[in-house]
Amino acid sequence: MKENLLFCPLGGSGEIGMNMNLYAYGNEENRKWIIVDMGVTFADDSVPGVDLIYPDAGFIIDKKDDLLGIVLTHAHEDHIGSISHIWPKLKCEIYATPFTAVLIQEKFKEKKIDITNYLKIVELNSQIKLGPFEIDFVTLTHSILEPNGLSITTPEGVILHTGDWKVDPNPLIGNKVDEKKLRSIGEKGVIAMVCDSTNVFSPGRAGSEKDVRESLLKIISNQKKRVLVTSFASNVARMESIFYIAKQTKRNISLVGRSMHRIYKAAKQCGYLKNVVEPVDPRDANKISKDRIIFYALGAKENQWVL
Ligand SMILES: [Zn+2]
Repeated sequence: MKENLLFCPLGGSGEIGMNMNLYAYGNEENRKWIIVDMGVTFADDSVPGVDLIYPDAGFIIDKKDDLLGIVLTHAHEDHIGSISHIWPKLKCEIYATPFTAVLIQEKFKEKKIDITNYLKIVELNSQIKLGPFEIDFVTLTHSILEPNGLSITTPEGVILHTGDWKVDPNPLIGNKVDEKKLRSIGEKGVIAMVCDSTNVFSPGRAGSEKDVRESLLKIISNQKKRVLVTSFASNVARMESIFYIAKQTKRNISLVGRSMHRIYKAAKQCGYLKNVVEPVDPRDANKISKDRIIFYALGAKENQWVL
């Protein structure tokens, strides 16, 4: 019976969000599967009353005995957001780099699930082997810490599954794109590249985090009173920049929003944000200054009272 390699996206191909990709190798009688990412998508007005949409995992739940594990590229919600909901029906091992792993643990804790025995922490730039798949983690740059591409070697050849990426020559926090490794993967030959990069069809270059920091420093330095800055909470480089600017402009800083605090804690736990000053609790009227910077998560529910 002929063995073959299959790629089966259950979400995320040709759409934004809800990334969940399956790869399989084997013949019809004996086929082994891996899952790359397990995300959500945010619902719009076309589905009133719905906030989040998960991929339909029924196909792989039926095959869970042949599932070798879930491999996560990075910690954005559209890549990990549905894991604590779908995993209980799969109960397989999960592979993630340290920052992603901390955020996954939080998700499972909220659901009172102990994931310790199933969560395997993978060092940056290292390799794992799952049955016929040899998976090499490749450091890329993106708007979150530890974005990994996966070079997946199979008996049929190599697939480069990038996760999300942009090429940022100055990411400020975390490593630069591992150009050397990408070149060597390319030289050996890739049979398919499965990739995701927002605005990939727009010509030109995306700006770097360093440019954003310089520009924000200039703008905030010219302000006399309180400054509000908003961002996706998961953009730790942006968060680090705001701490840096607060220090340069001698201002207090307050973080607002549950996810902002969660990401701050996770980044610290993984050894990032080492040299930043402690943020001030926005409810502590004695400590806050009139010209402080308030850094709040997009959509944070607590914004009304702090603004
Ligand atoms: Zn992403």
